[in-house]
Amino acid sequence: MAPVKRVWERLDLLVHSIRFRLVLWFTAILAVVLLVFSIFVYWSQARDLRIDAYGRMQHRMAEIAGVLPQGFVDMGIQANGMSAISLPASFLQSNEVLVIIGPSGKLVGNWGPVPADQVIQIAQHSIEQHPPHGNEPITSAAYQGASQNYTDYAFTVSPIMDEGTLDGFLIYGSPIDPTGELPRLILTLLAGSLLTLVFTVGGGFWLADRAMRPVRTITHAAQTISETDLSRRLTLHSKDELGELANTFDGMLARLDAAFQRQRQFVADASHELRTPLTIVNLEATRALASQRKTPEYERALGVIRSENDFMIRLVNDLLTLARMDAGQAVLQKQSLDLSDVALEAVERLSSLAARNQVTLEAGDMPEAQIIGDRQYLLQMISNLIENGIKYTTGNERRVYVESGLQDGYAWVRISDNGPGIEQSYLQHLFDRFYQVDKARSRQEPQEDDSQGPSGSGLGLSIVQWIVQAHGGTVGVESTPGEGTTFEVRIPAAGENESPDD
Ligand code: ADP
Repeated sequence: MAPVKRVWERLDLLVHSIRFRLVLWFTAILAVVLLVFSIFVYWSQARDLRIDAYGRMQHRMAEIAGVLPQGFVDMGIQANGMSAISLPASFLQSNEVLVIIGPSGKLVGNWGPVPADQVIQIAQHSIEQHPPHGNEPITSAAYQGASQNYTDYAFTVSPIMDEGTLDGFLIYGSPIDPTGELPRLILTLLAGSLLTLVFTVGGGFWLADRAMRPVRTITHAAQTISETDLSRRLTLHSKDELGELANTFDGMLARLDAAFQRQRQFVADASHELRTPLTIVNLEATRALASQRKTPEYERALGVIRSENDFMIRLVNDLLTLARMDAGQAVLQKQSLDLSDVALEAVERLSSLAARNQVTLEAGDMPEAQIIGDRQYLLQMISNLIENGIKYTTGNERRVYVESGLQDGYAWVRISDNGPGIEQSYLQHLFDRFYQVDKARSRQEPQEDDSQGPSGSGLGLSIVQWIVQAHGGTVGVESTPGEGTTFEVRIPAAGENESPDD
């Protein structure tokens, strides 16, 4: 039963394949074309044969008139039923018909294979259809229904005139297609058409199979690609449409592969970032609970736990923000606003943090710089940069300087610090997720005065970059090791073409 089922399945697959449908349509169209062509050829051949036959018959009629004796109309039929008119030997061929009707419609002579009464019936019909003008002959195709056997005969009815009066009729008949050309033509057309169709089906399948081979390659390759291994490519080295499709597919796979890798890396980095504070919390709690401790020791343990907890809250918040941004769920509520105003608000909000960390946070010149943007996101972006300045400045006179302005159609904010700076080679990775130049420096111990600094997880600048790009702007960084770092954000100024809905 299984092989039968398999054959049935293969048949089902074939019937539903593009190859099959392509060949079917192609063959059907060709069959229609061949049929129309055959009908046209047959019709034009039949018409030519008929024209030829009528021409031949006129000629023959003249010959017959030439051999008939004088006064033949009155000769009549002999006692043995034969005509009294004698024609030259072998003058009429076996398939030719000649009937002579005398005055008052009596039969005078009858030669050939068609019975006289049928010929007369055909002649009467022709005369009714085309009443004679003078002695002009009437040519007609066989009267349908007179006899099944003589439908391919044509007849010429010639009135016999005697001094202006109608004396009788000379009826001559001959086969339209004496050599059987039409049946042969039908056979030829039928055989030719069938042969063409057979070749078309065979050739069509071969061609369609060849054309569809790359599709099968793509299907096979696509089946072997799993979500865990997106490194496979179709690499169809052809320049046709299917090659283009395969290239597009490869491009999509490459993008998916990169996205999956980023996603995997992201999850791994996030887990890694969370593992350290969770381990610290676990260690601190275990140590504190291991034996009876003094109050300051409990306070210290709780301080560490709270600090790690804060770090985790910030990390989870950042992760959530990035996840929303990636999922396109972060909707910017754009409005017309002054970027300098937002920068000033960020400075004011972070001045206490700066003071706790003994960092001088200064706002420089801040003329009005109108843009279209989301106030909350812009505030978060500038705050992240200022927090980084506060976090990473070192030395005795720690200082973060914020200034803003408007230049060349762009509103800009510059945040500079006199920290340790960043090596040139690290700058290109600075905006990558979870990237930290010096991990030890990013994590800060809880402060004595309860004012722990912002610990980092390497997500701050990624968020900054996303926000800036969502506003159509750019963010750049300049840094001189030992001297300090300057971040500059540039966002297109509010122009005539922009609206808050953009
Ligand atoms: P983090 O949360 O670690 O601060 P960010 O994405 O904000 O993450 O910054 C990435 C890395 O860039 C930081 O770990 C730090 O090494 C470096 N960095 C950022 N800002 C400064 C700065 N003003 N001075 C020196 N290094 C900086």
